[in-house]
Amino acid sequence: MATDFSALGIRREINDILRENGITKPTAIQVQAIPMILAGRDVVGQSQTGTGKTLAFVLPMLEKIDSTKTHVQALIITPTRELALQITNEVTKLADKLGINVLSVYGGQDVDRQIKKLRGGTQIAIGTPGRLMDHLRRKTIYLSGVTKLVLDEADQMLHLGFLDDVEELVRQTSPKRQTMLFSATMPSKIRGLATRYMRNPADIRVQTQNVTLDEIKQVIVEIPESEKLDKLCSLMEEYRPYLAIVFCHTKKRAVSVTSALIQQGYDADELHGDLSQPQREQVMRRFRDAKIQILVATDIAARGLDVEGVTHVFNYDIPRDVDSYIHRIGRTGRAGETGMAITLIDPHEEPYVRMIEAGVSVSIEKHKVSGQRFLTKDKRTVSRTDGGQFFKKTFEKKEE
Ligand code: ADP
Ligand code: MG
Repeated sequence: MATDFSALGIRREINDILRENGITKPTAIQVQAIPMILAGRDVVGQSQTGTGKTLAFVLPMLEKIDSTKTHVQALIITPTRELALQITNEVTKLADKLGINVLSVYGGQDVDRQIKKLRGGTQIAIGTPGRLMDHLRRKTIYLSGVTKLVLDEADQMLHLGFLDDVEELVRQTSPKRQTMLFSATMPSKIRGLATRYMRNPADIRVQTQNVTLDEIKQVIVEIPESEKLDKLCSLMEEYRPYLAIVFCHTKKRAVSVTSALIQQGYDADELHGDLSQPQREQVMRRFRDAKIQILVATDIAARGLDVEGVTHVFNYDIPRDVDSYIHRIGRTGRAGETGMAITLIDPHEEPYVRMIEAGVSVSIEKHKVSGQRFLTKDKRTVSRTDGGQFFKKTFEKKEE
């Protein structure tokens, strides 16, 4: 089995940059997907949350971009602005040193600036369907030279609401393109739909016993709706997350839970679709910098976001479908870390628990408040991709 990226066909220069970022050993999905993508095959890639799917498609893409040509050659479509921005940052780290230009194209941002940058010779565009369509209509982006197309969180991208735009975007790309779909979940119906845009795709599924990561300890806490807020606060005291995400069913719920937490003295802030783009970016920046400890969010934050130091995910409202549960709890336990997912349910929501348990084939422990903390300080300082420097630094700051 290949043990480093060069054995998979990734050039030295890229290897060195990865190593500088503490990334030396490819993950299972990377081992399987990278050679297949380099060989030009269409790919449907499925692996658990936090297992490095982004680099699985980004690295072979960087290998194939011609930096002497100034048109968009690769397009990555994502369901949210936050994810587009995150992937842009991850790609830029590598692309900058290779002389490849990357641009994120998402709503709420200065269109003129995007247009100017697109004219300046962007080779990789990363964006949400809505804004990409805007640019198509204004004829400020041309996709006919796109030969690498990625739908990240593909199952979400092919859902109603996104489907029409995504289909139109796909039609605009080169007929000779290579198409890549990635997600932790891929319902068979969606898989079938996707193959319409693909040529004999390689079906890469990293086989694991469980749908959800073993690294994530999952518990259910049954509590009447009227006592949820108090319970959330006492769970915060009990588990003392380093960073936590609290998922709510609606924007309104997110707003009220946030203000209640702030009133209780927590460093909390909200993320949902009613905020302006600068507000959304500021909240995410502050959360990534650990200046906010608790991010209260709608499902906008459920897909793809990779924030170092998220030790706990709380489902203040239980998700209404299994895949949403998988993605939400997957915001913790990333890149080999451990994490904990706590789902609060009102007694009448018990049927949803059974649905989720059946969906993930795990019986989820009913939580008794015990005073015992799941994450020890040692676990929380375990190093990650940057050698843990960022995490340690901010963690120590927090501990002062
Ligand atoms: P996924 O898309 O599968 O949920 P991501 O691509 O967001 O996961 O990666 C999760 C984290 O793992 C990121 O912080 C990323 O930098 C890190 N990572 C990716 N590949 C490796 C690797 N080979 N070794 C160590 N860390 C990695
Ligand atoms: Mg991802």
